[in-house]
Amino acid sequence: MFESSLKQMGDALRARKISSVELTQSYLDRMARLNPQLNAYISIDAEKSLAQAKAADARLAAGSADALTGIPIAQKDIFCAKDWLTTCGSKMLHNFVSPYDAHIISQFNNAGAINLGKTNMDEFAMGSSNETSYYGPVKNPWDTARVPGGSSGGTAAAVAARLCAAATGTDTGGSIRQPAALCGISGLKPTYGVCSRYGMIAFASSLDQAGPMGRSAEDLALMMNVMAGFDERDSTSLQRDKEDYTRDLNKPLTGLRIGLPKEFFAEGMGADVAKAIEAAIAEYKKLGATIVDISLPNSKLSVPVYYVLAPAEASSNLSRFDGVRYGYRAPEYSDLADMYEKSRAQGFGAEVQRRIMIGTYVLSHGYYDAYYIKAQKIRRLIAQDFVEAYKQCDVIMGPTSPSTAFKLGEKGDDPVQMYLSDIYTIAVNLAGLPGMSIPCGFGDNDMPVGLQIIGNYFDEARMLNVAHQYQLATDWHSRAPQGI
Ligand code: GLN
Repeated sequence: MFESSLKQMGDALRARKISSVELTQSYLDRMARLNPQLNAYISIDAEKSLAQAKAADARLAAGSADALTGIPIAQKDIFCAKDWLTTCGSKMLHNFVSPYDAHIISQFNNAGAINLGKTNMDEFAMGSSNETSYYGPVKNPWDTARVPGGSSGGTAAAVAARLCAAATGTDTGGSIRQPAALCGISGLKPTYGVCSRYGMIAFASSLDQAGPMGRSAEDLALMMNVMAGFDERDSTSLQRDKEDYTRDLNKPLTGLRIGLPKEFFAEGMGADVAKAIEAAIAEYKKLGATIVDISLPNSKLSVPVYYVLAPAEASSNLSRFDGVRYGYRAPEYSDLADMYEKSRAQGFGAEVQRRIMIGTYVLSHGYYDAYYIKAQKIRRLIAQDFVEAYKQCDVIMGPTSPSTAFKLGEKGDDPVQMYLSDIYTIAVNLAGLPGMSIPCGFGDNDMPVGLQIIGNYFDEARMLNVAHQYQLATDWHSRAPQGI
């Protein structure tokens, strides 16, 4: 059952070949056995998950089941889930039990999916290795001496190790795609505004987007059918007609124009990654696609632009954590200002504090024009590069990450090295475009390599099929880590 697709699981549940309680219990047993080595989950609550499974079984019996009814899905711990501890990977929220559901969580609840637990993540989604989590690092199931990527590293490890059927992630600069690549799974960051951010703890609001992570593109399409949709509680949620994200699966790729940005294939990419990406492109040619050389001249500025804008938004968003209304409060303080200072100094980890300081600096009087406004202008140029590129191609492909999974501790004291992990993913967030990563082979040390597919606005259904056709022709996505 652990190798079944979401569709197969749903079919087995509706045919009453297995009950949701049995399915959920078998995942919980596997988690009890494997999570201690991987640390993929922050919260597991068997009683809550099984109660949902019981309700799902009743719904299955009544014949009113949806595609995901009864299927155990893990949720990144950035999503507020009613009565669940919701920490965002931070000591600041170590005691925060959410009184309400994020929009995404209620969508899964309405679909009858089971919340299997809350997955580990970099603190406030800041990181590329899951090492900034207050709850300790997550281990990569392919090699537990290596990182799973971040910030959705717990989700990526849980999916790869078959500790859930599929799971959610969020992506501000690459946090769905990069961990998907490093753990050998599939992940999609939708067009900005397609999934509601209501109840998703904010990092950089103009970039944050929720999306699905799973073992295949077909699974991601079913997850998107649940996750996407308008929500009036998020002012950036887009009012669009409901889509069936599976609608394009099985369309042939004949005539598909794949743009290869020359900047992505210049220096910086590991030789082992390059080899796997080239082989994937060759496979796409066999499937009938044609290759177009394109250029994204401003994409080289995306990392510096991001590290002005994302910290600026974070410094503002994280000002709400002050020790007053909820979350961590320092045990000893002299007055109100001292209480704020000590609570924030003790409640936030080093990387989060670094971002708050950078953000406060670039927004301060005298620097605002030089940094923040300039970065906003370059953001527009980066987005315009894509508009030009899509006049010549249908999708853009390249690597997701410059290297495969690195060793735990390897980049810990060099923030810039860590920031460069997202060199191929960040421009997509700055432009608000959809992007995905799918497994396309293995590099040095037998670690997975991810192929990035970037689409035009709202072109998720086509992208999912582009990934699906590749997955019909290859089996990288169905390889499972051995030895855990
Ligand atoms: N690694 C990037 C950062 O630390 C992106 C994180 C994300 O997408 N949430 O900001």
